[in-house]
Amino acid sequence: MKLQPVIGLEIHAQLSTKSKLWCSCDNDAHGAEPNSRVCPVCMGFPGMLPVLNEDARDKAAKGAAALGCEIQKFSKFDRKNYFYPDLPMGYQISQYDQPVALKGSVQFLLPGERDAHGNAGKMQTKKIRITRVHLENDSGKNTHVGTETLLDFNRSGTPLIEIVTEPELHSPEEARAFATELQKILRAVGASDADMEKGMMRFDASISLRPESEDKKLYARAEVKNLNSFAALEKALDFEIKRQTKLWEKKEAPTVESTRGWDDEKGETKLLRKKETADDYRYFPEPDLPPVTFDDDQIEEIKKSLPELPIEKFFRYKKEWKLAETDALILSSDPVLAQFFEKTVDLSDEPKAVAKLLLSVVLAHEDWKKTELTPKHVADTVRFLHKKNISSSGAKKVLGAAMKTGTKIETLMVEMRLEQVSDSGEIETWISDVLKENPDTVEQFRAGKEKVLGFLVGQVMKRSRGSANPEKVQEILRERLKK
Ligand SMILES: [Zn+2]
Repeated sequence: MKLQPVIGLEIHAQLSTKSKLWCSCDNDAHGAEPNSRVCPVCMGFPGMLPVLNEDARDKAAKGAAALGCEIQKFSKFDRKNYFYPDLPMGYQISQYDQPVALKGSVQFLLPGERDAHGNAGKMQTKKIRITRVHLENDSGKNTHVGTETLLDFNRSGTPLIEIVTEPELHSPEEARAFATELQKILRAVGASDADMEKGMMRFDASISLRPESEDKKLYARAEVKNLNSFAALEKALDFEIKRQTKLWEKKEAPTVESTRGWDDEKGETKLLRKKETADDYRYFPEPDLPPVTFDDDQIEEIKKSLPELPIEKFFRYKKEWKLAETDALILSSDPVLAQFFEKTVDLSDEPKAVAKLLLSVVLAHEDWKKTELTPKHVADTVRFLHKKNISSSGAKKVLGAAMKTGTKIETLMVEMRLEQVSDSGEIETWISDVLKENPDTVEQFRAGKEKVLGFLVGQVMKRSRGSANPEKVQEILRERLKK
């Protein structure tokens, strides 16, 4: 019996706002002293009233719109009750039956199948439906040290969106590819920095198996909580597929939904508890917050404000600018890089050459975004390469220098003596000198030993102190040796 994995994801992403969701505390507590970004509101002191951060509301709506969701004209907040030391209010303010957005879909890229030689084939696309997007606050963080638990509430009250997908993914690779696309989208629209290392994006993955013949049926699923990296997501799903397959083979397919945790060190999931249902949380409407409303004009405005999405850029780079898929993918994935690339193309009109230089030289510098490099530097370098005023190794050197100083490329080429001489007159003089000095080599060449040409080219290059255009040198040398 062939079993098909059925996977759905819930993604929590931290919205990139200045302050928290219900108070004016700093939302960026990265590296801050524990409990230094808190106030009576996000500490849940009695009598304190939450006030909705409008920037969080707008970023949630924009993120949802980018996922193709319908922004709801009316949504409301609810209390989700559970008791946990890192939840100071004793409940989380979330959205239960009327979330901020519903019914979206996301198209994402899947790596092409590899052929017998290991070469990746053409990338494929797949679409998955988004069930809903809702707003809620994050909890604090607890750290277990020996027998004690340390609590840090800096994260308490941080704004999150929870994105819920339909169970339409069928392999760990698909789940990872979708999650990657989601991260790109949230970054491109400025809704979330989605930095996994800082815990800004986390996944819960639900998975069950079913016989492939039973196309639509859903079996009891296991939900693996709090996966903090793409690798963990993929590995946890791989593990669950193997674990559940064994159960199916023993005719003991899961009948009860369960919640599981992921142990990254051991590489396995373990049972935490039977899955909670909505009843367990005793949801009820939040009395201290008004509903969230958007009118038609506001919704229209949010939709209009959406930038071109990464996957749309990918297709445009491929189609209009004829870039290779791997190049188009890298350049379209990061909004800062994509903008830099497009500005450079505007200045030089040579997308392929610009792409090549960015990918081979600029991206080799990890911190290139923090340097003095501008699109004009890259466009000028492309132009000089094209005119053969500079060699490719020279291009690498001037760009490296431009990153440090921001100096104009022309100036750097002169200062660093990297300007290639293509002027025939000057090259002729160097060649005459070299030919005069090496009569034996000239004889050898004329006697048919073509290999010595390389030596002669080398001598001319040396005489020009590396400034001569080697192609030009070779061309003129051949001409002269015929005589
Ligand atoms: Zn606060």
